[in-house]
Amino acid sequence: MKNPLLVPSKAPHGTIPFHEIKTEHFVPAISSGIEEAENALQRIIDCKESPTFDNTVLALELSSRTLDTASNTFYHLFGSESDKDFKDLSDKISPMLAEFENNTYLNEKLFKRIELVFHNKDLLKDEEDIRLLEVTYNDFVKNGAALSATDKEKLRDIDKELSTLSPQFSKNTLNATNDFELWLDEPDLDGLPDTVIDAAKMAAKEKGRENKWLVTGHFPSFSPFMQYSARRDLRKKVHVATSSKCNGGKYDNNMYCKKISDLKHKRAQLLGFSNYADYILQERMAEKQENIYNLLDNLYDSCIDHAKNDLKQIAELAEKLDGIDEIKSWDIAYYSEKLKKDLYDYDENSLKPYFKSENVMSGAFEVAKRLYGLNFKKLDNVQTWHDDVNVYEVLDEDHTHIGILYEDLFPRSTKRGGAWMNPLRSQGMVNPNDICRPHISLTCNLTKPTEEKPSLLTYREVETIFHEFGHCLHGLLSDRKYKRLSGTSVFWDFVELPSQIMENWVGEEDALELFAHHYETGEVLPKELLQKIKKSKNFRSGTNCLRQLTFGYLDMAWFGHHNDVDNVEEFERKAIEKTMLREQDTPGASISTMFAHIFAGGYSAGYYSYKWAEVLEADAFEKFQEEGIFNKETAKSFRNNILSQGNIKHPLELYKHFRGRKPKVEALLKREGLLQVNNS
Ligand SMILES: [Zn+2]
Repeated sequence: MKNPLLVPSKAPHGTIPFHEIKTEHFVPAISSGIEEAENALQRIIDCKESPTFDNTVLALELSSRTLDTASNTFYHLFGSESDKDFKDLSDKISPMLAEFENNTYLNEKLFKRIELVFHNKDLLKDEEDIRLLEVTYNDFVKNGAALSATDKEKLRDIDKELSTLSPQFSKNTLNATNDFELWLDEPDLDGLPDTVIDAAKMAAKEKGRENKWLVTGHFPSFSPFMQYSARRDLRKKVHVATSSKCNGGKYDNNMYCKKISDLKHKRAQLLGFSNYADYILQERMAEKQENIYNLLDNLYDSCIDHAKNDLKQIAELAEKLDGIDEIKSWDIAYYSEKLKKDLYDYDENSLKPYFKSENVMSGAFEVAKRLYGLNFKKLDNVQTWHDDVNVYEVLDEDHTHIGILYEDLFPRSTKRGGAWMNPLRSQGMVNPNDICRPHISLTCNLTKPTEEKPSLLTYREVETIFHEFGHCLHGLLSDRKYKRLSGTSVFWDFVELPSQIMENWVGEEDALELFAHHYETGEVLPKELLQKIKKSKNFRSGTNCLRQLTFGYLDMAWFGHHNDVDNVEEFERKAIEKTMLREQDTPGASISTMFAHIFAGGYSAGYYSYKWAEVLEADAFEKFQEEGIFNKETAKSFRNNILSQGNIKHPLELYKHFRGRKPKVEALLKREGLLQVNNS
């Protein structure tokens, strides 16, 4: 039998024939895909005609169809349905793909041709051709194609070093996290609720100790302990250990912080930028460091008094309840939890019966129907990777085919944690006569149904479904010519707008009426309950905002200019000084040495984008609130100016077309109750 990854799919809508694909098909399919792509690149280089958009840039865009199908399918299954053998395959496949990519970007003859087309950009008329040319050219330059041979060598060395330092940084944080253990006896459980005690008991049992309880260095274990433990001495122990991770000791990350920021700076300089942030910002909506600092400072001014007020309230409560005259870092989570209970006492579990997962999913579909006229038709003839997966054909208002949506909601041992959207097939050109529609998958790990009860979700889980569904709409409603520019292939600090904005509908009565029905009685979620949820969401919003700003400023300090850092703790203290409301009382406290987002993940000079995206979605949703949350015209404008546009223009342009102006921060501040200080 032929390798199903190497022949055009005969399945309905050209979907992937998952039942026919075996693990052993991937490596040969990816090898053939690479070979096919390399041949296509060779034909571009060998072309006798002078370089044009069609014979060079377009030919490159269309060169890797087989490879894309095989690698998309592989990485999809890697996350959604894979055992150890399957996962081990990535040790083979990832280096193959990395090498192919490297060889492409450093191919001088290929780059020369692209460069020539780029210099004759004015000859092109079509907006999308021009954008594809610019993006392709930038991809090559970013990866060092325009450098001299010696500098290319230097870049390769830097990348090689970074590729070992970053995983080492993560490994240290993980080891330090695993290393911490606090063993408890019965008297040490004072204050802890049953769920926390049970979890600690289970953790101890896993380590073979029956009559003990264990708190570990992992967040889900130590965070509730800090919230509930009445034992101040133990809270101090846990806080000191978890806040000084990797600052000295066996898993010291100090050297890695310095080296990684230094190498990234050198990399940026080699490519002609004065620092790493400026290099990154070439392809960010924020464009300039100045704009990032404006956002951070603006939010700072709005939240600082609220945060101080939060702290005051907590300190007062600590004094009132336990006579504590000086509040310490290890007291904050504990008294904050008590304050929260005082202010908004309601049981989160009382919401769950209103959120049966099937109802929530059809609620999301109904919202998309009211906004964009979309219909979701369940298909039973499409193969999937697991029986839990549902498949829908998405149809437009006039019944034209939009795409395919796979829905995979519940956890299993072969699936990684978290929630994500993933295009199995992106929208865009396959060959000049065929622009295909997308196949998108929505994956979550929600509360599972049991034998007695259907899957009943928490409020946060409902928001998660709507969030990922928003990413799916971005992928599905894409209407571009080229895949490289379609769907979610937008700038990093813009990609969360379509997803985060959808979470807003979950907080709206008119939307909840459509789907938040009690699974037994059919009663709609009571208004009072909704009000309580909304209020409690803003509990300590000033403090939460300030915490995000601490991370944002610290990230920019590390990557916004070159630092000759001698002492990491000292450097950090200066960088975040203005966000600290109290004297440091924790020996060895360090954020940097465990800040894996910026030292081991993709967030270097990008941490600000969390807040950036919130500003955008709150401001965009405000337009829906002004004009009606199901207003067809507003929705049409959001679809036409944002969801269908992919990366055709700079995101600020797209945004202005929708909003009629630049984004403003006020809608976010208003939503989070940060416009005036509330002294009550
Ligand atoms: Zn997201």
